Amino acid sequence: MANSTDIAIIGCGFSGTLLLHHIVSNENSPLRISVFDPSPHKFHGLAYSTQQIEHLLNVRADKMGAQPDNINGFYEWLQTNGQTYAPHDFVPRRLYGDYLAEIGKNTLLQAKAKNIDVIFVAEWVESIEREDSHYMLNKKCAAQKIILATGNRLPDNPFDFDFSKVDKNAPVAVVGTGLTGVDTIMSLLAAGHRSVITAYSRNGKFPRPHTALPTSLHKPHVHVENFQGKPLSTFLNIIRKNLADPWQAGIDALRPLTTSIWQALSLQDKQRFMKRGLTWWNIHRHRMAESIDQRLQQALTSGQVKIERRNFKVQEGHSFAQVFDCRGPDYKIEKQVHLNALLADGTLQAHETGLGLKVIATTYCVSTAGAPSIYAIGNLLFGEYFETTAIPELRVQAQEIAKQILG
Ligand SMILES: Cc1cc2nc3c(=O)[nH]c(=O)nc-3n(C[C@H](O)[C@H](O)[C@H](O)COP(=O)(O)OP(=O)(O)OC[C@H]3O[C@@H](n4cnc5c(N)ncnc54)[C@H](O)[C@@H]3O)c2cc1C
Repeated sequence: MANSTDIAIIGCGFSGTLLLHHIVSNENSPLRISVFDPSPHKFHGLAYSTQQIEHLLNVRADKMGAQPDNINGFYEWLQTNGQTYAPHDFVPRRLYGDYLAEIGKNTLLQAKAKNIDVIFVAEWVESIEREDSHYMLNKKCAAQKIILATGNRLPDNPFDFDFSKVDKNAPVAVVGTGLTGVDTIMSLLAAGHRSVITAYSRNGKFPRPHTALPTSLHKPHVHVENFQGKPLSTFLNIIRKNLADPWQAGIDALRPLTTSIWQALSLQDKQRFMKRGLTWWNIHRHRMAESIDQRLQQALTSGQVKIERRNFKVQEGHSFAQVFDCRGPDYKIEKQVHLNALLADGTLQAHETGLGLKVIATTYCVSTAGAPSIYAIGNLLFGEYFETTAIPELRVQAQEIAKQILG
């Protein structure tokens, strides 16, 4: 355990790995960086720790580069490593994990050459307290600056599960019908599950499929008005007008604008959208590969997968050999108990929506004026930016935060 450190990065998934990479690449003086994460999948994070071949990326290979100035970088890596995928393919996520591990390992070599100490601490950060000029992590490590890269904390981690151990002839339940729920269903089917898989969710909707060809090859009819200060209905009209054939192209064309549209909404409209529009948005925006959709539709048609449009009740658990909790990440800030002390003493502030942290000073900086710096990346900025959970946004955030923290 490091007793003092210049920078503490909490979390070593994609965000923590790329932050480390950019900090090491941009710094030439000795520095001590501590990376906290108890996960055995260093550099992978949750999404890319899966070893299951049927868990695919939901973004095409040629858009998944880890560097903002080379978005084709992952595809180039696939080619260099003898993989014969096409640029527009949705490839197994475990390959992306390998790609990230290589970036992480190269970063450590570079750090060594530059006399930068990188210390891994295989622990959850459970408490952070503010002291005069630094923060105390888990009551034993003093950090001058902190980056919160804690990402997706799912109720269960279905990616570490051995599906071959599930009784193939017994019914199972999957709670949640988002992308993680679909991954779990795919794993059960791939393991030869024979009995019924019941998928529970209040809306009963699975993500929609991608188009066969990238939407950039279609001409979207983008209609974007000046929406500043306009009500939610204006945003919904923009979406409606964008749903030209194929609707996927319209949704994708909105992506660069989603954050400014979100930020222009009143608090009341943001809350209304979270309550009434988020499910619709999620299933259209966070889509799955066509091949996965086809497999799922087959299983729905044959009756092997059934949908229950309601909440799962814990007491129903005994009817199933296994219950998989595949509810997505919870953005509510009170779930981040390790931030309680900093929220209570005013160092951090919850975003007005209650979804993550408020950005206080410069972009991504969440600590109050006068306090040692704390930056946040990704999911913790959901209330501020809304579009902040996938690689295209995270790769930019990681580069920017590294510049700011060293600047
Ligand atoms: C199943 C799934 C599939 C996805 N597929 C894609 C895709 O194809 N394309 C795409 O662009 N995006 C995808 N995403 C979005 C994904 O969130 C991002 O791509 C990215 O993986 C997020 O990385 P992260 O480092 O921010 O978070 P994570 O990967 O969640 O990593 C956070 C890390 O922080 C650690 N941690 C958390 N709390 C603490 C603490 N208190 N102390 C110490 N360590 C802590 C965790 O152990 C974890 O290792 C997917 C997400 C999921 C869940």
